[in-house]
Amino acid sequence: MGIKVFIDKCYGCKVCVPSCPFGIIEVIDKKAVIKDGCNLCGACVSACKFKAIEITREVETTIDKSLYKGVWVFAEQRGGKLANVTLELLGEGRKLADELKEPLVAVILGKGIESLSKKLIAQGADKVFVADAPELESFLEDSYTQVIVDLVKQERPNIILYGATAIGRSLAPKVAARLETGLTADCTGLEVDVAERNLLQTRPAFGGNLMATILCPNHRPQMATVRPKVFKPLTEDSARTGEITPVDLSAVKWDIRSKVLEVVKETGYIVNLEEANIIVSGGRGLCDPKNFAMVEELAKVLGGAVGASRAAVDAGWVPYAHQVGQTGKTVGPKIYFACGIHGAIQHMAGMSSADVIIAINKNPDAPIFKIATYGIVGDVREVLPLLTKEFQKAIGA
Ligand SMILES: Cc1cc2nc3c(=O)[nH]c(=O)nc-3n(C[C@H](O)[C@H](O)[C@H](O)COP(=O)(O)OP(=O)(O)OC[C@H]3O[C@@H](n4cnc5c(N)ncnc54)[C@H](O)[C@@H]3O)c2cc1C
Repeated sequence: MGIKVFIDKCYGCKVCVPSCPFGIIEVIDKKAVIKDGCNLCGACVSACKFKAIEITREVETTIDKSLYKGVWVFAEQRGGKLANVTLELLGEGRKLADELKEPLVAVILGKGIESLSKKLIAQGADKVFVADAPELESFLEDSYTQVIVDLVKQERPNIILYGATAIGRSLAPKVAARLETGLTADCTGLEVDVAERNLLQTRPAFGGNLMATILCPNHRPQMATVRPKVFKPLTEDSARTGEITPVDLSAVKWDIRSKVLEVVKETGYIVNLEEANIIVSGGRGLCDPKNFAMVEELAKVLGGAVGASRAAVDAGWVPYAHQVGQTGKTVGPKIYFACGIHGAIQHMAGMSSADVIIAINKNPDAPIFKIATYGIVGDVREVLPLLTKEFQKAIGA
């Protein structure tokens, strides 16, 4: 990729000069000159009325899709523990791979992680690439991107799936940019068009009011991130067999600009919402930030996690890490309590797959009751303490 000034179209108008955030454009002899340091942001391209500046890309315009085979899952792990979303992606990846009649491949990076390969095979992978090196011990965008991009160039997968986690969301765009391919974020549905071998990537659009299906027909690999809890993992089958291939990293010239000094565990009552079996969530119906203590109390008694609607988060009653919904977390607990939550489409997008939904709302027509398994019409400030007391008695807490 590069940037080019078409001299015959440039009239030296200087409009591009202030548009450059790095101040590296000069007009010399009535022609724009872009000096070193351009990061290809494209600001000058948009500013130029004469279309005299272009970002040039060396992209294969006609891709031979038959060269790209295999459904890959980026197997996210932290401290030697696989993220649950990895297993969920293997479950869905298995279906896609079977339809395409292509192998399902897991790619795992880290230090001392080879033992996780068997688990990946038992969860559906046909093959596992293991990149094991001290430089990969902690997730760093630079080192992980480098290894994955090299491996993709060598192996040419058709599809790569990542969890829409902090790691996946930071890694996938970098890989996509380096490979000059597309990426669909936060997919909630995946299918394949077997004839064209295209991945049909469905995700909410326009504030969750419609579902868009996105294709990447001209580039490979096709890449998507998927939120945790959207798909179900397969039942572990320890009798499954597969191939484990170590990635040769001997030629890698590590180009890492950052280093992890310390890993600090999050403290406080935040429980990983995406993995919780029981979630008690509060909304604006709690009427006052101090009433959020009622939500926390019930969650504590049930050994669950605390969730919230965006209204409660925006009001500053509870940190964003607790937000459930389209712009928060997607959860799939066994039991979800919606306390004083209206049931906006954007909230329901994040919790409607809960097995049992218990809603407390003073308005009998609140939309949350349409998806609730049990509905309690009443003032949440009266109902919640009573429920907590009854659960306390029943559990003996
Ligand atoms: C692009 C976009 C993304 C969004 N993403 C999210 C998201 O990720 N998560 C999310 O939650 N929202 C999201 N929203 C906001 C969403 O549209 C709603 O505004 C929000 O969910 C409302 O929160 P709420 O139900 O707590 O509040 P309200 O809509 O104000 O509802 C409060 C409810 O409490 C009931 N109530 C009031 N007092 C009591 C009481 N004393 N006892 C019992 N019930 C009572 C009311 O009847 C009402 O049903 C998003 C919006 C947009 C446009």
